[in-house]
Amino acid sequence: MTNKIKLFSTITNQDYPFERIEEFADNGESLEVKIEGIEKAKIRDGKYLWERYADFLPFSKIDESISLGEGNTSLMKADKKLLDFVDLNNLYLKNETQNPTWSFKDRGSLACIAMAKEMKESVTATISTGNMGASISAFGAKSGIKVIVFVPDFTPKEKIMAMGIHGAIVVKIIAPDYSEIKKKVLSLAKKLNLRIVSGNGPIRVEGYKMASFELFEQMQRRVPDYIAVPTSACGHIRGIFKGYRELKEAGIITKLPKMIVVQAHNNSPIVSAIKQGKKQVIPFSNFHTIAEAITSGNPMGGDEIIDKVSKYGWLAEDVTEEEIIESQKRLAESGYFVEPASATSLFAIKKLKQAGKIEKDAFVVMILTGSGLKDSEVLQYQKANVQEIKLDKIESAISKIL
Ligand SMILES: *Cc1c(COP(=O)(O)O)cnc(C)c1O
Repeated sequence: MTNKIKLFSTITNQDYPFERIEEFADNGESLEVKIEGIEKAKIRDGKYLWERYADFLPFSKIDESISLGEGNTSLMKADKKLLDFVDLNNLYLKNETQNPTWSFKDRGSLACIAMAKEMKESVTATISTGNMGASISAFGAKSGIKVIVFVPDFTPKEKIMAMGIHGAIVVKIIAPDYSEIKKKVLSLAKKLNLRIVSGNGPIRVEGYKMASFELFEQMQRRVPDYIAVPTSACGHIRGIFKGYRELKEAGIITKLPKMIVVQAHNNSPIVSAIKQGKKQVIPFSNFHTIAEAITSGNPMGGDEIIDKVSKYGWLAEDVTEEEIIESQKRLAESGYFVEPASATSLFAIKKLKQAGKIEKDAFVVMILTGSGLKDSEVLQYQKANVQEIKLDKIESAISKIL
């Protein structure tokens, strides 16, 4: 363990030790890892991302035995239908549904488990609406770390079953407001001396950085103009940006991408604040959105994102339920079956282009964050063409279809 790594709070810049067990600073700000001497970091040779980018990561070592083969997800240019829909020339899809538990959460879980190993902890807990709990459960199973997952009662059954089969203990909490549940659960970390990881913890963010390193390699060292990220707890968007920022600090790239913060209109604590010129999150409660994976109504890390939007010229957009359903369908019609939260970015990009905020030739990446199969309930909103026929009617039925 090196002493050149610390945590600092992202708004008032207070230092904390790297080993800190709580996810946020004492005043509630997001925490960020700082590695001394990152200006001299170099990309190295190695089979795995964490080997090639070891200089950029806070761990003394990541052992192959804790990995589930996360990452290595495809980056594909959107087809003509999608390009026409958003009215852009260069839209790319980074398909994070190809991860071992079908969402980008696996990149962060690798980092959380590496940290647990580094700290010699045998139990890890998390609070999650689903994907993160399922992901940590899988990584815990692989590495022999016991996992406890706290979930709200709206977590889809597919995600709870996934936690269950990996052997995690699932604690469902019946309470109306997810942000309140989360605050309460996270506040117990110190008392219980239990690392309870959340979607915006500093260690998780280090794992998400690997998505930007991978994009950097896939785009032959070119930096996209925009990266659209459906945002809830804020860890993902922070992580991707931090990866690029550190590549810049190390003199490897010269420009930064602009991030696009995407939220559901029915729960847009960050995007509403930005649109209204506020510096603080506008809390949402008692809302409903089919985008279950982005339901932090009062994200603790939100103020930092609002700050970064103005500091770095990021964009922000929200989308209605109808727009989410249409986006999910359009992506599926082009071959990508994603969950509603992931689909939000497509319509958000379309609206930003329409408003003149994205140029026609801009290089835009949208992250497909999670798979559509993990939430079958919402598929009631999508039409499926299923016909039932008798055995002796197959030929005539098919002739009719043709
Ligand atoms: C977790 C999640 C998000 C939101 O990411 P945050 O890091 O919480 O902002 C978006 N989409 C999917 C599918 C997710 O699982």
